[in-house]
Amino acid sequence: ESELIARRDDVLGASYRLQYRRPVHFVRGEGMWLYDPDERAYLDFYNNVPSLGHCHPEVNAAMAEQAGRISANTRYLEPKLVDYAERLVDTFPNELDRVVFTCTGSESNDLALRIARFASGNEGVIVSSYAYHGTSAAVAAVSPNLGDAVKLSPFVRMVSLPGPAGVPDGQAAEFFEAQVRAAIVDLNRRGIGIAALLIDSIFSSDGVWVDPPGFIASGVSAVREAGGLVIADEVQAGFGRTGAHMWGFERHGIVPDLVTLGKPMGNGFPIGAVVGRRAPMDRFGTTARYSNTFAGNTVGIATADAVLTILQRDQIPQNALAMGQRLRAGLEKLAKQRSGIHAIRNAGLFFGIDMGPEGTAAAGRRAMALDVVNAMRDDGVLISTTGANEDSLKVRPPLVCQAEHVDLFLACMERALIKLAS
Ligand code: PMP
Repeated sequence: ESELIARRDDVLGASYRLQYRRPVHFVRGEGMWLYDPDERAYLDFYNNVPSLGHCHPEVNAAMAEQAGRISANTRYLEPKLVDYAERLVDTFPNELDRVVFTCTGSESNDLALRIARFASGNEGVIVSSYAYHGTSAAVAAVSPNLGDAVKLSPFVRMVSLPGPAGVPDGQAAEFFEAQVRAAIVDLNRRGIGIAALLIDSIFSSDGVWVDPPGFIASGVSAVREAGGLVIADEVQAGFGRTGAHMWGFERHGIVPDLVTLGKPMGNGFPIGAVVGRRAPMDRFGTTARYSNTFAGNTVGIATADAVLTILQRDQIPQNALAMGQRLRAGLEKLAKQRSGIHAIRNAGLFFGIDMGPEGTAAAGRRAMALDVVNAMRDDGVLISTTGANEDSLKVRPPLVCQAEHVDLFLACMERALIKLAS
């Protein structure tokens, strides 16, 4: 194992980080479970890409069937491409009725930024202060989460979120709007102007800040008044993750101009999209050129089509809501019985769980979070951390999670908290 790690470091380099103090190797996945070479099962409460569960047989059958027939690009007539595009936009509010396919979440955000800049004639972008939006040069430049590793664009302005700033729920909307307005004033004063407010609908890398629902709405209106577009990054929140709703922005009662999709769209097959309002997308599409070799290819579409069918047929978002409630109730009970859990936030099956009693120093909280993550890994349950200080547990199981899995997770977390306290 140590030899493999050394070879890996040598050939792949430092940016390929391994998760866990004791890295783990998986050889197969099935539903909620991943298996190591010794057939030890690990309960997956972390991976949000295979949201229908690992290696879903129907999704894989659709993918293999299409790959066995033809893998072709979007320049040919293909009824399935049009059918899927129609079905996808039907899951959005009526105003959002156009779609362009991509291969990754980063490409989706990159394209959305191009559209917003083209449509507004401005350059400025507002993001949350610990946002992550992807890998390309343009989206890395609006991803403060990357820290010193990237130079933020001079056109980017960051806004603090009310939750991490300790603002009470009753003043959250006002706080957010005031920051957005100040950013717009500054961008205008420097002649940059506002192209877009780009927000992850659940602020996942900021630490999962979901409440109060609607707190972004007045900030969204301020951006529109100033001529900017609103981009909801649904790479994390989309496709039912937040429970009951298909899209995370619906919790906030807003309709964005552009919505970016990725991760769970193909349950593991790389496919993403930008869905949006007709006017800005058409203005961009007829003047600028967007062609993407692999995006919307027949194999990706067949896979995504199977994913959407199962998501709707099996009422996966409703399951995410119910299981999210069960998990939340269990965590609240645990927080009362054991020390270590400071705060619990969730929408559906996306949780941020802050560690440490009130008053614990940042380094101590981060160490606690890491200890819990690693204790749970050793005990056979997979999670990770998030937030500016990496002191929140990030918990986001596949959406096919059942009551028995929630209960196994809670029992494992309790053992980790007991271990930590001893
Ligand atoms: N947006 C958000 C909110 C993300 O979490 C990520 C990936 N973690 C991306 C965009 C980029 O997606 P991808 O890695 O598929 O390019």
